[in-house]
Amino acid sequence: MPRYDFRCRSCGATFELRRPMAQANDPAVCPQGHEDTVKLLSTVAVTGAAAAQQAPAAGGGGGCCGGGCCG
Ligand SMILES: [Zn+2]
Repeated sequence: MPRYDFRCRSCGATFELRRPMAQANDPAVCPQGHEDTVKLLSTVAVTGAAAAQQAPAAGGGGGCCGGGCCG
């Protein structure tokens, strides 16, 4: 199951949730109970840190594929 990173705009905490892709954009509640959270782009399907170190310099961009939904 994909893992999604969220950040709370109320207290600034970051946290992870595992949820089905269909619920990727559902609201997430901070561990502290705040509901004002934003989903962060994360390298969900990447194993290891190599890909995360590649700068998205030329074209392409992450976008949809960042969440692994292009499969
Ligand atoms: Zn919070």
